[in-house]
Amino acid sequence: MNLFRFFILGLLAWLVYRVLMSWNSDGRPAAPRPRNPEQFEMMARCLKCGVFVPRDSLSDRGRCRNCEKSA
Ligand SMILES: [Zn+2]
Repeated sequence: MNLFRFFILGLLAWLVYRVLMSWNSDGRPAAPRPRNPEQFEMMARCLKCGVFVPRDSLSDRGRCRNCEKSA
């Protein structure tokens, strides 16, 4: 039965940790942060290797810097 008790204690500690971490300093549950759309860059796929990179960093042939270097 010792193992079962240890398991319950671990569960309780985890729950306390979750509750503490979900509260702000003013005691309310943390609200999700509003998204700032300007933080996101348009992503595009490299035509050669298929990796997603920011669209601005693709070359005019649609390749990432790595493929542009090796080609
Ligand atoms: Zn590439």
